[in-house]
Amino acid sequence: MTPLLLALLTPSCTSKPEPLVVLVVIDTLRADALSFSGAPVPDASPAMASLKDESVWMSRAYASSSWTLPATTTLLTGLHPWQHRVVRQAGTSGCFGRLREDIPTAASVAKQRGQRSAAFINNAFLAPEFGLHLSFDVYDFHGAEQVGHRTAMETVTKALAWVDESPEGGLLVVHIMEPHTDYDPGPTWLGHYTAEMPHTVDIPIGGYTHNLWTSGQVVPSDQDKAYVRAAYQEEVRASDEAVGVLVQGLKDRGRWEEATFVLTSDHGEAFWERGVFEHGATLMDEVTRVPLLIKAPGLAPGENNRAVDGTIVFPLLVDPESETWAQVRDATAEPLRPALMQGTLYSNQQISVVTQDHRLLADLSPKADGQRYANLFPIDSTGSTALQPLPANHPDQSIAQASIQLLKDLRGDANPTVPTNPQGVENADVFQKLRAQGYLDGNDCN
Ligand SMILES: [Zn+2]
Repeated sequence: MTPLLLALLTPSCTSKPEPLVVLVVIDTLRADALSFSGAPVPDASPAMASLKDESVWMSRAYASSSWTLPATTTLLTGLHPWQHRVVRQAGTSGCFGRLREDIPTAASVAKQRGQRSAAFINNAFLAPEFGLHLSFDVYDFHGAEQVGHRTAMETVTKALAWVDESPEGGLLVVHIMEPHTDYDPGPTWLGHYTAEMPHTVDIPIGGYTHNLWTSGQVVPSDQDKAYVRAAYQEEVRASDEAVGVLVQGLKDRGRWEEATFVLTSDHGEAFWERGVFEHGATLMDEVTRVPLLIKAPGLAPGENNRAVDGTIVFPLLVDPESETWAQVRDATAEPLRPALMQGTLYSNQQISVVTQDHRLLADLSPKADGQRYANLFPIDSTGSTALQPLPANHPDQSIAQASIQLLKDLRGDANPTVPTNPQGVENADVFQKLRAQGYLDGNDCN
């Protein structure tokens, strides 16, 4: 048999693989934890800095919520939390919504197109029982413990193995858990920033310390706060190393050029900037400003500083013709709408509207006097929200009225969102993991 005929008989050996769409979600990654956006440590993220040079960097991107489940649901559906309603029931400990099967997700769109999809997931709030696994061909879930989780490198290795099995392309979701508490970066990065720092607290922080800090019963010294932030940065560095392996792995396999690659986070992390630790208790910058890097064939790299939220990710994953792509390409275009975020895990439900210059923060639950309260904060040229709101008689307060009207138009009302298909966490393993992290006490759905 001639070599030519052999080649004709074995097309699968020579045919080009189909493009991949890749979403990387690094849990709890603040926008300002990266080397190109103000990290407090040197060389914070060399791999993500290289990725930025090939991407559009959305430098004013906001998570759609303050905690994992609703924010990640938004990334995969393009719906705001009050639309998908995969939220916690206000006033309960362990009563959560479940994603409805009729809501399209990035995975269900891929399936409709005959494409494969896989997700490698490490947060117990993304367990299959909350419904995000629906339509994925592979949903490889390893829920994190209070201390310990599948590492970013192990996760990326599994993801690349799936790529090797998937010449037909499809959707790949890679979730990296490192920056989330407990701040235990593993042997490679442990001490990278903290080795010489004085401290009286221990890393990894256990559940007891975590709960004392999140409840505000204990506030560490400034020295310990700096130590904790540096430990967090070691976990960012561990995440960055894995991102570098993933990108290089796609390049080595000839799968990079044609890939659409989106990297973001589900939320940030507060280090007492406004007296609060961790995430889930506020929608302010430290918890909602997240990185968003978008690399796609033919997309010119550069910075785009328009304020956007997590709803823009879904159309980027599923629709090359979406007007969202035009927004990403044109940094001078007016945003389709302000950035919107809703939902807290620990306290009353809050909602926030962010334009280029102002942030409205409103409480959806009425106070004892029956009124709902909102504050308007100025945003400076770097995108940072002021610590104090504007006074009630400030002329810019008319902007608050416009934002409140926008929320009424979008939501229909100003009430807290009621979860859809609410249930307690019935899987004993998932329940134990979430309780160990201080996120629930019991199953109290009525
Ligand atoms: Zn999270």
